[in-house]
Amino acid sequence: MSRIRQHNVLAAQWAPDGTSLGAPDLTVPDNQIFGQNVFSAAVQRQRLPKDVYKKLSQTLAKGEALDTSLADSVALAMKEWAMEKGATHYAHVFQPLTGLTAEKHDSFYAPTDEGTALASFSGKELIQAEPDASSFPTGGIRATFEARGYTAWDPTSPAFILENPNGALLCIPTAFVSWTGEALDGKIPLLRSMDALSKSATRALKLFGKGVDRVFTTVGPEQEYFLIDEQYYFERPDLLTTGRTLFGAKPPKGHELDDHYFGSIPERVLAFMLESERELAKLGIPIKTRHNEVAPAQYEIAPIFENSNVGSDHQQLTMQILQNVARKYGLVALLHEKPFAGVNGSGKHNNWSMGTDEGENLLEPGSTPGENLQFLFFCTAVIQAVNKHQGLLRASIASPGQDHRLGANEAPPAIISIFLGAELEKVFGAIEQGEAAHSTPESFLGLGTPVLPPLPLHGGDRNRTSPFAFTGNKFEFRALGSSMSLALPNTVLNTIVAEAIDYLAEELETALASGRSLEDALRPIIQRSYAGNKQVVFGGDGYSEEWHAEAQRRGLLNLRATPDALPYLISDDTITAFSNYGVLSERELHARYDVFLEQYITKLNIEAETTADIARTMLLPAAVRYKAELLMAEEPELASDLGELITDFVEVIRALEQVNLKESQPEDDTLKHARFMHDSVFAAMSEVRRVADALEKVVADDLWPLPKYSEILFIK
Ligand code: ADP
Ligand code: MG
Repeated sequence: MSRIRQHNVLAAQWAPDGTSLGAPDLTVPDNQIFGQNVFSAAVQRQRLPKDVYKKLSQTLAKGEALDTSLADSVALAMKEWAMEKGATHYAHVFQPLTGLTAEKHDSFYAPTDEGTALASFSGKELIQAEPDASSFPTGGIRATFEARGYTAWDPTSPAFILENPNGALLCIPTAFVSWTGEALDGKIPLLRSMDALSKSATRALKLFGKGVDRVFTTVGPEQEYFLIDEQYYFERPDLLTTGRTLFGAKPPKGHELDDHYFGSIPERVLAFMLESERELAKLGIPIKTRHNEVAPAQYEIAPIFENSNVGSDHQQLTMQILQNVARKYGLVALLHEKPFAGVNGSGKHNNWSMGTDEGENLLEPGSTPGENLQFLFFCTAVIQAVNKHQGLLRASIASPGQDHRLGANEAPPAIISIFLGAELEKVFGAIEQGEAAHSTPESFLGLGTPVLPPLPLHGGDRNRTSPFAFTGNKFEFRALGSSMSLALPNTVLNTIVAEAIDYLAEELETALASGRSLEDALRPIIQRSYAGNKQVVFGGDGYSEEWHAEAQRRGLLNLRATPDALPYLISDDTITAFSNYGVLSERELHARYDVFLEQYITKLNIEAETTADIARTMLLPAAVRYKAELLMAEEPELASDLGELITDFVEVIRALEQVNLKESQPEDDTLKHARFMHDSVFAAMSEVRRVADALEKVVADDLWPLPKYSEILFIK
């Protein structure tokens, strides 16, 4: 049976009314499900003793230390709430350095002497647990025999219930720390960096006459992903093992026609989206938009922004829910950065801003940005931070999957630059020249017919090629990979911007002390900072050859591959900024550097072995069989052409197997080893792929053992 027919049989199991694969319960109206599985502030207010609730919410609003005596009351209320919702177990959920989410489930029930079981959950169990830390990467912070690590309750990210057809689980967001107090996760540094930024920004805001208690950083991620039929997934050992296809010739139709982008969403896919969004709504995750992306079978989902910590936890959950729900529809959600060569990869746009506890967005320019001193101050700080720490920002988003996007001719380039938009660039240009405030009056775009309303015209067009763009009232860091956690890039952003804010605030304090007006004091400071950092500002096409040459002239970094970028995690500038702000110590930074290098090496090694294995045991036999068929059919010329390809194939497979041998690799130095994986092992894999893809185009379709791109990407 052909693969396409098989596919139709399978897809038919999903009936459009959802009856065959466990339909969601649509009887509960949408407005009642939002947050229904969250131990939210509202639930807490209802269920906690008044004084406990008051103390807890004050702690959270001010970012103060938690009074641990509250924990017993909270634990009791949480347990009762969770059990009413059918939970039998609880789990401390944390984010180890693998970037994935980890959880260990414990039952609420403990056996009694009388042979029954009693449910219990104490404050101690809420606050702390001790998973066996030895199985998580620590980058040498502890030896394996010192296995102690603790998870610690994060009361600033609400607990929630994960449902399963056979029960429910209370999930408690936690931080993960070593016995020696070092951060082993993504959450601790993120929280530390939010504190750092809050301190710097509140200090600066005083100079603008504003007394606020706290400034929060905010994040709204736009997540891209592919959805493919699960049958193809299971037929591709490369997808199964590595998350991407290691083989696959370019299909005759890619995204040249651009007919998928924002196109109408196929029914099965929409059904999947509706159910995912419902599940996310139950968890209090405010999903706002969904649409088709540029590549065939590629989609996007984006929530309304939240504070960085909650937004980051919610993003982890979003990835998990997308993957779980897809399976109910006979689909697989691929989060890998580059599942298909020659087809656009998937990224994650990290929209980032800062807001006061009173709800003021510090990056809101208003209608006359040139006169908005406070906005200009914070915007200048971001430009300065990004320019100074380009390498670190690039390092914060490095991974093997990213090597296929950044640095390849794709969105976005590996060179970090900022797009400000025409209007803001003019504003800063004017300040730099010492000219008066510049602002363009608001203008409208007429649509040529009175029945359509005039549209307000934005101060600048969009620029889709910039890795770091100002988009109205926030910066959009677009270089994140689709599978990544938000924690590290946001930790970096918060910390480096905190540093720049303090730098500028200090200058401003000094200037104000000499009796100048705010405006007179600030303009020369912005002027100096902008002049010194504007090399990072670029409004043109980030993919173009000219930009690469221009960026080099400007002295901007162009860190193409992960091993080029990671050393910036431990550069002097990074260590200084991160230790000054208490975000990560030198040791904690080194730990991350080591772990990320190790992961890079391991992942490439797995890809190399999978490539060699598939090539030898699936593709080579297919080619050889086809050659025999050609000979039988008395087609000696075709057989001889194929024979040449087969000879090449065997040669490149051998070469790959050779470089991927342990003995061939410089194992004594991890950085060298990572470079070797990139320069030699990855290069050898690409050679195997090159010949395999040529074979795919000549071997008989019924003999070719892997589903082709044309099937995987276009059958929905
Ligand atoms: P795009 O034009 O980039 O496709 P969308 O409107 O689809 O924009 O998504 C914008 C994203 O930016 C959303 O996730 C949204 O929550 C987020 N966002 C908006 N304002 C802020 C802010 N102040 N801080 C952080 N993220 C924000
Ligand atoms: Mg965007």
